[in-house]
Amino acid sequence: DSKRRLRNNWQAYTPELGQLREDRLRMETQLRRAVENEEFRLVYQPQVDLRHGRVVAAEALIRWRSQQGEMRPDHFIAHAENTGDIVRIGRWVMQQACAQVAAWRAAGHGIVRVAVNVSYRQFIGDDLADAVRAILAEHRLPGSALELEFTERALIEDAPDTLRTFAGLRDLGVMLSIDDFGEGYSALNYLRRLPIHGLKLSQLFVAGVPHNHSDVAVCQAIAGIARSLGLGLVAEGVESEAQRRFLLELGVPVGQGFLFAPGLSADDLARRLTLEQAVLAAQTGER
Ligand code: C2E
Ligand code: MG
Ligand code: MG
Ligand code: MG
Repeated sequence: DSKRRLRNNWQAYTPELGQLREDRLRMETQLRRAVENEEFRLVYQPQVDLRHGRVVAAEALIRWRSQQGEMRPDHFIAHAENTGDIVRIGRWVMQQACAQVAAWRAAGHGIVRVAVNVSYRQFIGDDLADAVRAILAEHRLPGSALELEFTERALIEDAPDTLRTFAGLRDLGVMLSIDDFGEGYSALNYLRRLPIHGLKLSQLFVAGVPHNHSDVAVCQAIAGIARSLGLGLVAEGVESEAQRRFLLELGVPVGQGFLFAPGLSADDLARRLTLEQAVLAAQTGER
């Protein structure tokens, strides 16, 4: 039957499958040209201090203005990983994000660091640390201006160079964090082996607090791991005031989510930072 056929990794040709394959090929062809056609842009989601909402950093998130309309990364990153185009795309993202944080720093905004998502494929056949060193130098940025977010997949893929790459990045002063922590394999072994600075508490669990008991338990456990290993912790997907308060009580210092802001254009984020500084200046003046 069809289930067994799928399990045997063999599929009969059907018109639907033909269509799917065509769609995939078309997307991969378009992706190949998307960098030079300047079809990508980055939005920046603020990471805020959960106590008072002040912006401390921003995560760069890619968007694709494809011929089919604006597309979310979940719909094309995996394809780009399959074809290997993610290496070029990832390099473009790093360039853009570093240029942007250099501009923010020069403007004297409070924002001094940008976080960039890195695919496991960017480890393979490319010296990530060398590429990062060159980009930082080009923009005259200290390593601490850049944070790289890896998913657990990048860590368990066990490319022979992972340890060397992480050590190289650490030596540059770049912050290294694990994205969507708890969602994947949570191979805690890597927390001991690799020079990680922080964890990002997956929105999968944040979504359920403060009411769902098992989500509460998982958040507590992850906060405990971060605390005892001396790691930073950023909560993802904070959507409500009740969640913010719960996380704060748990000792989570930083959060991002729709409660504060979605991914914003660089200009919109700059406007927000200017406003924030004005409010802060007014408050300081009052004292
Ligand atoms: P991520 O790194 O875990 O990013 C968080 C995702 O959650 C983003 O989706 C963001 O828009 C969304 N989000 C933020 N706050 C909230 C909230 O309060 N509620 C909910 N429901 N969602 C929220 P986005 O931008 O669609 O990105 C999806 C994923 O695609 C990212 O997950 C990341 O893994 C990947 N990605 C994004 N940009 C890049 C990139 O430049 N390179 C690579 N390799 N992957 C990227
Ligand atoms: Mg991320
Ligand atoms: Mg995440
Ligand atoms: Mg995610």
